[in-house]
Amino acid sequence: MAPLKTYYCSHIEMRRAGRIFSFQNQHGEVLKCFRCAVRHPPMLRRSIWASVVVGTILTAINQGTFILGGDFSPSLVWKVPLQYLVPFVVASWGALSNSRSTGAGRDD
Ligand SMILES: [Zn+2]
Repeated sequence: MAPLKTYYCSHIEMRRAGRIFSFQNQHGEVLKCFRCAVRHPPMLRRSIWASVVVGTILTAINQGTFILGGDFSPSLVWKVPLQYLVPFVVASWGALSNSRSTGAGRDD
C-alpha cells in the first residue's frame, strides 16, 4: 500500500502564518487555510444536512403550533431562518475545530 500523500491549498504557501485545517480524502491528507476550509465541500454538505434536520425539528417544536394553525406572525421571518442557521454554524464550527492542525506533518 502506497503511503498517503499530503496536499496543500495554494494559500498556505502564500501565507506562511495562520491557522491550518486538516481534512482527509481518498488520496490522503489535505491541508487548507481558513478561507478554503470554510468552503470544504464535504464539510459544507454535512453542515447543510445538520441544518436541515435540526432546523426542521426546532421549527416544528418552537413554531409548529403557529404554522399549522395558520398564525404567521412577522417574527417568523427571522425566527425560522435562525433555527436553520444556528445548527449550520454549530456543525461547521465543530468540524473546523476538530480539523485544526499545527501543520507539523509538513515536509517543506
Ligand atoms: Zn487556501
